Amino acid sequence: MTARLLIVGPQGSGKGTQGARIAETFGVVAVSTGDVFRAAIAAGTELGTRVRSIIEAGDLVPDELTSAVVRERLSEDDAAGGFLLDGYPRNIGQVNDLDEFLSSRDEGLDAVIELDVPRAESISRLQLRAAKQGRTDDTEEVIAKRLEIYETETAPILTVYGDRGLVSRIDGLGTLDEITERIVTALIARGLTPQS
Ligand code: AMP
Repeated sequence: MTARLLIVGPQGSGKGTQGARIAETFGVVAVSTGDVFRAAIAAGTELGTRVRSIIEAGDLVPDELTSAVVRERLSEDDAAGGFLLDGYPRNIGQVNDLDEFLSSRDEGLDAVIELDVPRAESISRLQLRAAKQGRTDDTEEVIAKRLEIYETETAPILTVYGDRGLVSRIDGLGTLDEITERIVTALIARGLTPQS
């Protein structure tokens, strides 16, 4: 059985952690555009050089480039049985790009997981992560910019997917296991079957 999933939530909502857990549970590959970009920067590839200063400033990488990276990644063999996208789409333009790509393959999304976390909680989790991981885009100023972009550009995609009946809104407060359990329950209710 295939599962094509998105996980959407503000920075610091825990979507990376939950996305990886859910992908494993449903037997699909987790693709995080943020991770792809960070790996490219670390490896010093051409992509890394192009995106480095954009990411450090907390801005969005242009849609054309981001959507090309995602199309390429989702065309690999390990994504044939489905995927969980974390951090993409990030705005309406990317929603349109993804729609076009999936419909060209006669595919569609099964569910969009919305992780609901209050702004104050996201900020304190990001500050903690900054102290622990030292990510260059986790400074206070850049965090504020990224959260603002989330609210103005990313949150509206939830209305679009909500109108299609795809959104499962999940309370993102609680232990990691509690949150995973909530997501799994919501996906089972949509007819998806865990593989493990
Ligand atoms: P994340 O780890 O998802 O918070 O992503 C880190 C950074 O990578 C973001 O602040 C953006 O600069 C860039 N990025 C990740 N995903 C996207 C996307 N879908 N569109 C544009 N930029 C992105």
